[in-house]
Amino acid sequence: MAQFKKVLIANRGEIALRVHRACQEMGIRTVAVHSTADASAMHVRLADESVCIGPPAARDSYLNMAAILSAAHITGAEAIHPGYGFLSENADFAEMVEAHGLAFIGPRAPHIRMMGDKISAKDAMRRLGVPLVPGSPGALESLEEAREVADRIMYPVLIKAAAGGGGRGMKVAHTADELEEAWRVARTEAKAAFGNDAVYMEKYLDRPRHIELQVLADSYGNVVHFGERDCSLQRRHQKLVEEAGSPILSAAERDALGETVTTALKELGYRNAGTLEFLWQDGQFAFIEMNTRLQVEHPVTEMVSSVDLVREQIRIAAGEELGYDQSAVTFTGHAIECRITAEDPETFAPSPGRVNTFHAPGGLGVRVDSALYSGYSVPPHYDSLVAKLVVHGADRPQAIARMARALNEMVVDGIRTTIPLHQRIMADPEFQSGEYTIHWLERFVGMTK
Ligand code: ADP
Repeated sequence: MAQFKKVLIANRGEIALRVHRACQEMGIRTVAVHSTADASAMHVRLADESVCIGPPAARDSYLNMAAILSAAHITGAEAIHPGYGFLSENADFAEMVEAHGLAFIGPRAPHIRMMGDKISAKDAMRRLGVPLVPGSPGALESLEEAREVADRIMYPVLIKAAAGGGGRGMKVAHTADELEEAWRVARTEAKAAFGNDAVYMEKYLDRPRHIELQVLADSYGNVVHFGERDCSLQRRHQKLVEEAGSPILSAAERDALGETVTTALKELGYRNAGTLEFLWQDGQFAFIEMNTRLQVEHPVTEMVSSVDLVREQIRIAAGEELGYDQSAVTFTGHAIECRITAEDPETFAPSPGRVNTFHAPGGLGVRVDSALYSGYSVPPHYDSLVAKLVVHGADRPQAIARMARALNEMVVDGIRTTIPLHQRIMADPEFQSGEYTIHWLERFVGMTK
């Protein structure tokens, strides 16, 4: 099948740039879409063509499926890359794109739908032989059922939204007394955030690490994994710093997990990029969810494996074969990513506004994925991520030293950012030791919950 000539990028910010860069290197023309708030955004400036798709509110622009499809038709784009967030895990959108004769650069709609509901995702993984966090067999129908399951798996337990994402709709009950409240709050939050109050229960692990596996699959049953990312540094269940590989995983453990996952996805008939997320505790992996899209933290995998994951996504969507097998995937050194957001580094209050000066760090092993430029105004309407600073080093200590050095060089003047927090993390002996759990960062930033 021939490669695409023109791709529409249904996203904004750094990820729109990321996709544009892959397209340019492949000789593919790009179409940017943008809201009125983003008329002078970098992704619009760089793209070969651009179309305004609506007002600032995301539901009227970046989530407006009809406007995006019209933009593709007007410009003659043959494929749509959804990036992450927005419509990237919307199965209806993937279906609509294909119904209009365009290629969706992502998985098949039924797989997006299956993994979008965490209960059906866990069901599928159970059938495919992937280990799970112990919990309710499906949705919890009543508080009584929640009590029964909690008594069986033992407190502490976590009530989670079936449609959850971004750490919302998740509540811990440490004891039976806290269960009713957790049940009520999780359901209310889930209903408000996702329009769906279905919840399930998992054992709340007290000291896990978050370890996830990057996978690519083509349309011919070839599935390859690109190793793990350790995303244990989180605040409110949201990742702040990610690494490849994990400081605590051996090559043998990685291979074993990779084997389980690639076998499962082969059986499922999965296509394109995906990430399976696990909690790891006491040497055991337990699946929590699958993301059927490119992830924010994909660059750390690219740095250690030298693969361009977006290029691979585009090749797969155009019907090409992967053309290599697991033995061709090798890893060099260690990579770290810091998510730099437009937020106060202590209170995390949003800090949109004008960036007077932006200076990106450089040098050996440094990569900056950012849509910032001097004079740019960070709009208040969207995600607060303004830059991903990614470094690669021969080993973890070198990567940490390089990240600290790059953070010192970086200038984002005019708004508050989380650069000072990342500087403190890199300088911390516990972080440097590599011995921490998903709860470490919240204590570090002075939060107990
Ligand atoms: P979301 O889709 O909202 O991001 P996830 O299921 O991916 O939700 O979980 C996000 C984070 O919440 C995990 O990385 C982990 O830190 C924490 N978490 C999720 N499930 C559990 C669990 N059973 N025990 C302890 N922590 C958990």
